[in-house]
Amino acid sequence: MAIETEFITKSWDIPLRASVDVAVIGGGSAGVAAASAAARNGASTILVERYGFLGGTSTAGMVGPFMTSYTPDGKRQLVAGLFQEVIDRMVAMGGAVDPSTTEAGSAWGSFIELGHANVTPFHVEALKMATLEMVCDSGAQIRFHTSFVDVIMDGERISDIVILDKAGLGLLRPKVVIDTSGDGDIAAKAGAPFEMGRREDGRMMPVTLFLTIGNVDDDRVVAWMREHEKLHPGERLFECIVKEARETGAWTLEREFLNIYREPTPGQWRVNTTRVQNVDGTNPDDLSRAEVESRRQVWDLIRFFRSHCPGLENVQLLATGSQVGVRETRHILGDYVLNGQDVLEGRKFEDGIAQCSYPIDIHDPQGPRGRLEGIHADHYEIPYRCLVPRQVSNLLVAGRPISADHEGAASARVIPPCYATGQAAGTAASLSLKQSVAPREVDIERLRKTLQEQGAVV
Ligand SMILES: Cc1cc2nc3c(=O)[nH]c(=O)nc-3n(C[C@H](O)[C@H](O)[C@H](O)COP(=O)(O)OP(=O)(O)OC[C@H]3O[C@@H](n4cnc5c(N)ncnc54)[C@H](O)[C@@H]3O)c2cc1C
Repeated sequence: MAIETEFITKSWDIPLRASVDVAVIGGGSAGVAAASAAARNGASTILVERYGFLGGTSTAGMVGPFMTSYTPDGKRQLVAGLFQEVIDRMVAMGGAVDPSTTEAGSAWGSFIELGHANVTPFHVEALKMATLEMVCDSGAQIRFHTSFVDVIMDGERISDIVILDKAGLGLLRPKVVIDTSGDGDIAAKAGAPFEMGRREDGRMMPVTLFLTIGNVDDDRVVAWMREHEKLHPGERLFECIVKEARETGAWTLEREFLNIYREPTPGQWRVNTTRVQNVDGTNPDDLSRAEVESRRQVWDLIRFFRSHCPGLENVQLLATGSQVGVRETRHILGDYVLNGQDVLEGRKFEDGIAQCSYPIDIHDPQGPRGRLEGIHADHYEIPYRCLVPRQVSNLLVAGRPISADHEGAASARVIPPCYATGQAAGTAASLSLKQSVAPREVDIERLRKTLQEQGAVV
């Protein structure tokens, strides 16, 4: 950012809006789970969200389906608890397909085998309502259209959170803060150490704007894929068409195939194919450039679908995300840093609070390809220490920015573990208040037992 060459100093009187036990900042997957868990476990809880609905990247960013919440063989569920409650609510609304029924290599998982069984296809509007109802039912208070601005520190403790809403600046005074902003904004402002992207060069995975298309001839798309996977095993959807079109100049995007996921409504698919590189999702200039570039790519795609892709000749653009989806920014450094070997070897920990089996899924920060590498075990665990940032005493982090390196996060970043770490953080925050200790000192056995009693798998 070139603007930080000149500063002014000004002072304001900022009114105290609320004093609470727990403030959860960010109402995405992790925040929804954290706020619900904290409130259900008896803490007065406030959930701050800048948009007017919940779900974050999975609703505002339209990212989906939820990746696997099962072991690779599909026999055991690894993420349940509040995550499954959200799915049950959506299924009851006719807005999702239960992951116990979705198979590897199916249209629900974009015809991908590895790591793409037991996914959860869902409607964005069903998810907005299911998450809203779950948080409201928990007793947590939601403050929509409210942005986190800054923290006020008392030594290593966050004493107040500065927010901005329609009435101006305000203060929240929480005993414990849970950072579920997706980017670790609160932890960074509070002085917790972090890494950006890859350790060696700070590069981050590319961003992608999702879109939903309608009027797809589902049967033709599936038939094309089934025919081609016999002729060219390992080839992805429309890969040969994209390759040929690149040679003639009809395809200019970075991706080498179409990555599209069938939705619960016939004829509707979610498209994960646009891509913009060199975007730091914490930099407003980069985010603006990413929106401009990716929205242009959306219409290039629509034209390409109609002119080149069997089954997509008559597609209509139904919706685009309100924001580009950001895969990676800060990795907040906690008391343990989950790494790629932990994931691949299926490492377990005494303070394990979540389980996951999703592969390491890296979208190359410098090129079109990536790395999808399956784990060599049933599952790995995420230790509680990954939620406890260094150097700040009353803060927990959940969701995408938990303490993991580039490779560890490339697995743990998907939506099911974000719910699981959110549920663990909310439960731990409430326990820390009951035990009158800092979140770092929470009795781990009691935390694990409470999570288990409340449906989570630990
Ligand atoms: C392009 C892309 C494709 C992906 N594909 C899949 C997939 O197919 N399946 C899957 O399971 N996972 C996928 N993922 C990963 C997954 O979607 C995310 O990692 C996950 O949703 C992050 O959840 P979260 O709760 O940590 O953060 P988010 O969902 O990003 O939530 C953060 C919340 O904080 C709010 N917020 C942020 N800053 C502020 C502020 N200053 N003040 C107030 N509120 C604020 C945001 O509005 C948002 O609601 C993908 C990610 C991307 C980007």
